[in-house]
Amino acid sequence: MVLDYIKKYKEKTRKSSSLFAKSLKLHVNGVSHNIRYYAPYPFVVKSSSGKNLVDVDDNNYTDYWMGHWSLILGHAPSKVKDSLRKQIEKGWMYGTVNEQTILLSELIAKAVPVAEKIRYVTSGTEATMYAVRLARSVTGKKIIAKIDGGWHGYTSDLLKSVNWPFTESESSGVVNEEEIVSIPYNDLEKSVEILKKHSKDLAGVIIEPVLGGGGCIPAESDYLKGIQEFCKKNDSLFILDEIVTGFRFRYGCLYPTMKLDPDIVTLGKIVGGGMAIGVMCGKKEIMEYSNTTGKKKSERSYVGGGTFSANPSSMTTGYSTLSVLKNGKAIYSKINDLGDYARKELSKSFDGKVIVTGKGSLFMTHFLKNEITKIVNAAQASMCDVKALHDYHFKMIAHDGIFFLPGKLGAISNAHSKEDIKKMVLASEKF
Ligand code: PMP
Repeated sequence: MVLDYIKKYKEKTRKSSSLFAKSLKLHVNGVSHNIRYYAPYPFVVKSSSGKNLVDVDDNNYTDYWMGHWSLILGHAPSKVKDSLRKQIEKGWMYGTVNEQTILLSELIAKAVPVAEKIRYVTSGTEATMYAVRLARSVTGKKIIAKIDGGWHGYTSDLLKSVNWPFTESESSGVVNEEEIVSIPYNDLEKSVEILKKHSKDLAGVIIEPVLGGGGCIPAESDYLKGIQEFCKKNDSLFILDEIVTGFRFRYGCLYPTMKLDPDIVTLGKIVGGGMAIGVMCGKKEIMEYSNTTGKKKSERSYVGGGTFSANPSSMTTGYSTLSVLKNGKAIYSKINDLGDYARKELSKSFDGKVIVTGKGSLFMTHFLKNEITKIVNAAQASMCDVKALHDYHFKMIAHDGIFFLPGKLGAISNAHSKEDIKKMVLASEKF
């Protein structure tokens, strides 16, 4: 069956095939983000709009990857496009202080209570890198705890325990790996047991309120509360990585709905409106450790570099996206409902053979294997049939004009409709 799909895919993506052959000569693995490669080769995109990607062979795909889940309004929404066009007329890179940054920060500061001070970077990775550095500076301690299966970008600090069996780093060349420890999601007892072992030198815990790359798994709020409580008692920082979840389910972060009180929050993706961004924000007294004026180097944290940080283009697309979302109650209720609908219908159509995890507009289908009956952590997600998930996503690319990055969770945007979800469910049933 899969061979038929590969044949069909090759027939309809001939131009992609020859372009990707060129790409392979120029780029390692043909790509610049490892997860963008899938066999036999990824199609090459020439344009996008609304819910659609169009490849160089003129195939149209209803997109559920949505720019690494950053495009909550869909591809190239008109308000954001217009604001960017106007900005480009005025220049797109200043390398200086600009008003666009202040406008975006005013929105973020109002919507995210902990954002008493903000620093911008150009990727989520930089934001988490700085968060870890800041935690170490503030506490004078070294160890950072992360979640088994937690992906916080490609900073050397956090490359450990990303994939099953969560024991090693994704890379060689990483130093001081022993200063990263890993805890299981949604298992407070085990997590605290591990944290206790390292309590003396624990600078902080970094954690996502919905484990994204690790399987689209929501945290139980008591779990996060328990980890936060441990951090507070232990003088370690509680860092919430809301790069995926920030502005995804509501206008603001997820943590206030769980009554959490993080020290630092990282944002990215949606708040950049589709342009490069990362944000580290947090409580004033903590963020002020990175103030470079009047402090000895040994007493500060170095945060804030980057040629393109707070560039006016990203600030503008971020601002116009958040401006739409600010009055977007209807958008959130629409996409959250579509997510509920997708989870319910997909579960039905696979007749008990899957668990569809997620929250709101994010969802992921796990094909059950190895006697897995629930998925509350990345270990359980990894024990599911990951190959079946890839085959399922590939079948939809080849056969149905529906794009999920194979193996990854899907994101619904405001450009999707119930009809789209129905089509996707129908395509799933046929698989
Ligand atoms: N944190 C989380 C939770 C993420 O999902 C990601 C990216 N998928 C990152 C950090 C890194 O962001 P970026 O790719 O912009 O560096």
